[in-house]
Amino acid sequence: MLNSFAGRQEIVNRVLQKDLDGNLAHSHLFVGPEGSGKLFTALEIARRINCVTPKECQQRAVCESCKKAVTFQHPDIRWICPAPASTGEKEAAELYQLIQEDPFYEPTYAASSQVLIGDVTHPGPLSVRSALKYLRVKPFQGKRKVVIVSGADRLRAGAANAFLKTLEEPPDDALIILLTPVRSSVLPTILSRCQQTRFEPYNENELADLLQKIYPDIQSAHAVELAKSGSGNARQAALLRQSVPQILRRWAISLLDLAHRGNEGTLQIAADMLHKGKLPASIAEEVAPGNKSIAKDASDLVEKRDRVIRICSMLSIYYCDMLNCMTRGDTWVPRMASDADKLKSIVTQRTVHSLLLDIDAIEQARLDADRNLNLGLVMAVLFKELVSNAREQTRAQSA
Ligand SMILES: [Zn+2]
Repeated sequence: MLNSFAGRQEIVNRVLQKDLDGNLAHSHLFVGPEGSGKLFTALEIARRINCVTPKECQQRAVCESCKKAVTFQHPDIRWICPAPASTGEKEAAELYQLIQEDPFYEPTYAASSQVLIGDVTHPGPLSVRSALKYLRVKPFQGKRKVVIVSGADRLRAGAANAFLKTLEEPPDDALIILLTPVRSSVLPTILSRCQQTRFEPYNENELADLLQKIYPDIQSAHAVELAKSGSGNARQAALLRQSVPQILRRWAISLLDLAHRGNEGTLQIAADMLHKGKLPASIAEEVAPGNKSIAKDASDLVEKRDRVIRICSMLSIYYCDMLNCMTRGDTWVPRMASDADKLKSIVTQRTVHSLLLDIDAIEQARLDADRNLNLGLVMAVLFKELVSNAREQTRAQSA
């Protein structure tokens, strides 16, 4: 994750300098709009402040301490965020893992949860009480114990009060960094105890550079386009990058379902949409509710072709997955775990032979699309074949 730094370097430098000068405040509040790099910056400060070979580790994690920091395994760095009360060690570990895979990952509960206060005797891993308990112990390996709290605006009175005493008189070696998008929603008692730092939205150039750094597979023209649509919000720009593939994935599974049910009419409409480079609004809404810009039509032929090829690749994954499910039985490991149940139920009504025909037809369509044939026609032919293979099968079974 933070092997490629995506925060605000000037703020990191300022904090590190103050630490060297011996006048770094213990409690900080980072205020800045969504996607302005607050968490990245806080995590980078935590890493650099505890680094054992600062010269070597300026750009990336080289020493053991930094390596632990970027994988959320450093014993002296703790990050907590709003989470449901049921969150245990397993869920917290999963969250840390997902953020390492994609630094802009945001769990679905993020928008609706509060920062937990935690049980007195058994505080959960992402709770205020666990963070406080942890701050009371001397640093294990590093110089400072760092606690980072995302969503300081979502600390309810009880959780905030639990924090106050520590914010006021933090242990000598503690560094507490609270993050919030809006200053006005943070309780005044917290505001008055923290040194505040403002984060401005990224400008377009910074954002384009940052996206390319985090996602090396993005072409530079695409990064610039995403940066424009993100309007300073790095998370939003990153989300836009993901959403079309996600829509295509949802679309592929719904096409598979339509073929299975023999719904030729809807499939022909889908072939036409792919031909015109349109995306189904209902699926866009499911992937990113309320975000109208995501279901943007493909503007040129290359993009349309690319979508058709990707839909074919997704279909191919799903059909091969069904074949694997059928032949491997209980030892089947689905490639798309979240769709496994649907595939499993369809498989019970199919044979190996008809699935092989489907896989061949999809591969043919992918090649044809790549060969500049008419996209609408290629997909119409493919969908007809998928429906007919599924029907043949039903006929054979009832005979
Ligand atoms: Zn280091």
